[in-house]
Amino acid sequence: MTPAVGPRPFPPDEPDCELCAAARFTHWYAISDEGWVADCEVCSVPMAVWWRHGPEPSDEVIDRLLALLTAAANQRFGATAWAVDREMRQVPDHFHAHARDNGWWEKRWSRPMSRYTGVGGDRIEAEP
Ligand SMILES: [Zn+2]
Ligand SMILES: [Zn+2]
Repeated sequence: MTPAVGPRPFPPDEPDCELCAAARFTHWYAISDEGWVADCEVCSVPMAVWWRHGPEPSDEVIDRLLALLTAAANQRFGATAWAVDREMRQVPDHFHAHARDNGWWEKRWSRPMSRYTGVGGDRIEAEP
């Protein structure tokens, strides 16, 4: 299935960067002029990503992206404890942050991946 292509504020800065590409396979929680929040395809937890290719947005942009991430994580995890992880392991040169619940590392293989059904709305898990 080809991922749906929706509005983005500008074309990818870096054609070879997967975060710039912003392919829509998993659930997308939110989108703004500054970035987007979707389930990470590796970790299966919400991840906020800046539209721009670069490691360090302004503090104001970071605050707003983390606010979108917080809303997504509260919706996803409810009362379960979670924390923001700003370590950028796989793509160190493009700002992103994960919201990780306790035990995400052990759970990541057994969790069904969500699938893209449009931005916001219900989070639908893919068929096994
Ligand atoms: Zn991840
Ligand atoms: Zn990038």
